[in-house]
Amino acid sequence: MKQSPPPVTASTVNWISAQPPLLRFLHACYADFLPEDGGTVADYIPELGKADPAHFGISLATLDGHVYEVGDTKVPFTIQSMSKPFVFALALDTLGAERVESVIGVEPSGDPFNSIRLNAENHPFNPMVNAGAIACSGLIHTAKGDGAFEFIRQALSRFAGRELGVDEAVYASESATGDRNRAIGYLLRTNGVIAENVPDVLDVYFRQCAILVTARDIAVMAATLANRGINPLTEQQVMTPYAISRALSVMTSSGMYDYAGEWIYRVGVPAKSGVGGGILAALPARLGLGSYSPKLDKHGNSVRGIKVCEALSAHYDLHMLNRSDDARHSIIADYNIGKNPSRRVRRPQEQEILAKHFQEVRVIELVGTLSLSNVDYVSRRLGGGPRPEFVIFDLRRVTATTRAGARLVAEAFQELAALGVTVILSGIKRTSREWTTISEWTSRLGNIRDFYLLDTAIEWAEDQIVYRYGGSIDFVETTELSEQPLLAGLDEAALGDFAALCTVRTYQPHETIIAAGDAATSVFFLRSGVVHVTLPDGVRLATLTAGMAFGEMALLEPKRSANVVADMSATAFEITIADFERFRAQHPPACERIMRNLAQLLADRLIVANAKVDLLTSG
Ligand code: GLN
Repeated sequence: MKQSPPPVTASTVNWISAQPPLLRFLHACYADFLPEDGGTVADYIPELGKADPAHFGISLATLDGHVYEVGDTKVPFTIQSMSKPFVFALALDTLGAERVESVIGVEPSGDPFNSIRLNAENHPFNPMVNAGAIACSGLIHTAKGDGAFEFIRQALSRFAGRELGVDEAVYASESATGDRNRAIGYLLRTNGVIAENVPDVLDVYFRQCAILVTARDIAVMAATLANRGINPLTEQQVMTPYAISRALSVMTSSGMYDYAGEWIYRVGVPAKSGVGGGILAALPARLGLGSYSPKLDKHGNSVRGIKVCEALSAHYDLHMLNRSDDARHSIIADYNIGKNPSRRVRRPQEQEILAKHFQEVRVIELVGTLSLSNVDYVSRRLGGGPRPEFVIFDLRRVTATTRAGARLVAEAFQELAALGVTVILSGIKRTSREWTTISEWTSRLGNIRDFYLLDTAIEWAEDQIVYRYGGSIDFVETTELSEQPLLAGLDEAALGDFAALCTVRTYQPHETIIAAGDAATSVFFLRSGVVHVTLPDGVRLATLTAGMAFGEMALLEPKRSANVVADMSATAFEITIADFERFRAQHPPACERIMRNLAQLLADRLIVANAKVDLLTSG
């Protein structure tokens, strides 16, 4: 008896790398900066003074939803000023940008966060200093009344992807000592920035600052900011892209208090810190970082947290203004149907038309992000060649579409339509985000055809060319065995004996004729109708019309490797392998001829397959 192999467990497998390099880097940061003991724990809110200065946690969340964690990433601490960008975004979405922007500025103040100073219009300088943040809490109180704090807590919880609680002791401690913030509250009220009862607003603000988070939470919250408001773990759109981008804007200009200018110059990543010891950094379209270490420098920023951010930015060159992109990588293949026709096996008349008009169907396979520069490049590349009647854009490998990209796509389609070029899309799931973005623009252009499979799209365009140039695609035509390429060269006697061994079968539309995995016990010759051949995973190998054989691999292999399904009513001649062996005994030379024909058909298919591989690998 054959012995079964031992089960595969972690210890029997040699993984490529036990640790992803990014995690290794975070571990190195932790080790390097742990000895750093400069700074002091904030104690102007007495309860904050109880934090353990040894705590140090670093977490990094990627936009595909992975969270790296090193050190004390599960230790809860209060969010403090890191709540400000989120509550600002919430105010924008709740009260409308116009209302919020009319009472809170967006200029850096150059002052410490708790400065009791307003700008020339007697408005807070920006939402990242206490005055602006208290104004935001006040605006939310206007909209939500007594439910304001719960509304904020729930919103922040959506950013974190879990229910966040409150540190009651820190809340009570700040409430008991926060007279400076009270002074700011009354200043705001006397200037008409808030109309609310000041103690109520301050209560919301103190509670919001006492929301408990971990380094892991803030990494995820930062990643949500970096991801246009979609939490990468829950995939929920938690706020509008407008509110998110504006929150990131004020983080960029004012997130690190009176150190903001220096920060964005040196580190180049939008960030926000809190006196609880947290730093949150969000690099748009890349990652979110959360760090926790309670000792603060003279600006109120976590000493170790700053070091981590500086090291990460420097090591991987992450400064957000130090970027470039090459649009030319967005086209993975560009061809016409002369080089790569559909998998429909065509009859001679159709073949002739398609051979003459192969330049009329152009296929461009795209990859990656449809951005402003990528779509612009594609549209210029398209303009460079002879104008085809059909252009197929295959979007199967497109992973994202920016709004600029989608808009440019729509404008390019409009141009093409005006020139009489039919645009066809393939490879998009109608439920995908990409489709939503693109169809938002293209729906105005009326009917853009889209097919899920590229091959179906090519086949459809080919059919149109055949029709346009006088051909017809007649599905019900009946073909006799003598016209089968597989039986070409057989004399009449052999053909007659062969036919006598065949049975005529009839199939209903969608009926499965052959199922992958079954025993291969017969060969079919399609007499009328259309069938298609698909792999078990749904990939279509071919569409066959009358006059073509299928299941012919039974002559070589004992098992069916593909499914064959009738597209419409179809009839076929079937010969069993047992009868074929009988025929072989009767007519050895005819049988050898059939095997030669089969080799020829397989060689032809291989040539097409190689051409396709070549197209994709040479770009
Ligand atoms: N609750 C704190 C305060 O208002 C928040 C300040 C901060 O984190 N910078 O003083």
